[in-house]
Amino acid sequence: MRLSGRRVAKAVRAGVAERVAALAEAGKAVGLATILVGDDAASRVYVNSKHKAAEKAGMLSFDHHLPADATQEEVVGQIRRCNDDPDVDGMILQLPLPGDLDGHAAVEAIDPAKDADGLHPYNLGKLVLSQDAPVPATPQGIMEILRFYEVETAGRLAVVIGRSFLVGRPMALLLGAKGVDATVVLAHSRTKDLPDLARTADILVAAAGRARMVTGDWVKPGATVVDVGINRVDAEVVGDVDAESVEPVAGGLTPVPGGVGPMTVACLLRNTVAAAERSADLR
Ligand code: NAD
Repeated sequence: MRLSGRRVAKAVRAGVAERVAALAEAGKAVGLATILVGDDAASRVYVNSKHKAAEKAGMLSFDHHLPADATQEEVVGQIRRCNDDPDVDGMILQLPLPGDLDGHAAVEAIDPAKDADGLHPYNLGKLVLSQDAPVPATPQGIMEILRFYEVETAGRLAVVIGRSFLVGRPMALLLGAKGVDATVVLAHSRTKDLPDLARTADILVAAAGRARMVTGDWVKPGATVVDVGINRVDAEVVGDVDAESVEPVAGGLTPVPGGVGPMTVACLLRNTVAAAERSADLR
């Protein structure tokens, strides 16, 4: 079965649009700012899609673009202006940053209350503690797909391939959280016998950034496979999963495109409207 993220994202975005409209009635506009540094074409495409989705949900959106030779101080300065701007409820610093710029240090400059990506160390710490805070958008979106398609998680074995702070690590925390209750194995580039390990998974999340790495013989029959990868091969965008060989074996598979990607954008918007609601409550 195809687990369409597009379908779930539509439902999430509709919920966001309702909440934006309710805030507008109360006199509060919702604003999302993006900060893009440099001219990476893929990053520009991602940023554009975030603006389009924000505008469709009724949000204001602010597009800040800095040149590739911007200094760390200039990037942090732009973040601070967004922190201080009452029209900005959520912001996204598009990662990775070019050259020698320090992405982690820049993310730390974001006001945790406006952290639409949920990547500030304060918010990641809250995630470790299972406390309410913006949750990183990609793993949040994956959890939403699993819930929507009623994939059983309690007591199931989940193997997450990839341990980045953006996807793999928060994914492992969410799958292992109380109430979700999967048993989680976090695999990475130095994991031994990865195909054998993957074949034990009831839920397999592929977030390694390696085109079509997971093939049908890595998958336990009936398992749920989540393909996070976005890899450019020639002119084509392909996932970390070889859909052709995996689809006949898996119980469910998220496609690329149309799987995790649309959920990432929808969850960024949801984090932003939640931030706006909190700031409206504080007024
Ligand atoms: P990353 O490069 O920061 O991390 C990759 C991780 O995979 C590392 O922990 C590494 O140890 C592991 N890895 C690399 N090669 C491996 C191998 N051969 N075997 C096992 N593990 C291996 O990447 P990231 O930012 O986590 O992104 C991963 C992929 O997901 C990329 O393709 C990225 O484009 C994509 N992505 C998609 C979305 C979305 O919305 N769909 C969002 C974020 C990232």
